[in-house]
Amino acid sequence: MKIVFATNNAHKLAEVRQIAGPGMEILSLADIGCHDDIPETADTLEGNAAIKARWVRDRYGYDCFADDTGLEVDTLGGAPGVYSARYAGGEGHDSKANMALLLRNLADTDRRTARFRTVIALTEGPQMRTFEGRVDGHITRQPSGADGFGYDPVFMPDGWDKTFAEATAAEKNAVSHRGRAVRRLIDYLSSKYNIND
Ligand code: IMP
Repeated sequence: MKIVFATNNAHKLAEVRQIAGPGMEILSLADIGCHDDIPETADTLEGNAAIKARWVRDRYGYDCFADDTGLEVDTLGGAPGVYSARYAGGEGHDSKANMALLLRNLADTDRRTARFRTVIALTEGPQMRTFEGRVDGHITRQPSGADGFGYDPVFMPDGWDKTFAEATAAEKNAVSHRGRAVRRLIDYLSSKYNIND
């Protein structure tokens, strides 16, 4: 079976293809000639994932799945949430600025519980199905670790004594929001299309 993953992020593609195994052909946006700047205008993770998946299905005719992830901090009422990439403003994706702002906003509190949440939306013709993965933890007082990306240096999962940025990729993938959501999606597709590997 062929399905499109609405991303051109090489790291995400490799992770999903590895979990899916050889029985599924997972195409990137570039693979189908889609170079559109797909708008992410919703104010929920579910909404943004759905917009991206629907965009591809409607314009390119392939069933498609798309993901959106946010870091939800309880004391901040769930912020930065859907705005995680652009929390500190600008063009977004400035991880250092985003983490600095987050630590500033939490400077006066010990209530630091948070979670990463990933939502994957999958089109099935006109229908849509969603899959979720989450990992609970807390925001540390300062960044630690050099690996990973985004907020990894300030996120410590429950039961761990190190941040995501101090873990190996395999350790992180085993518990991470995205790993969990992707495994749920792949389990669903495997049983739907009777793919064993
Ligand atoms: P995206 O939806 O995967 O692009 O994620 C949106 C934003 O959430 C990213 O720009 C990062 O700031 C943050 N983020 C997503 N996943 C992770 C992760 O695994 N570790 C740290 N930050 C993440």
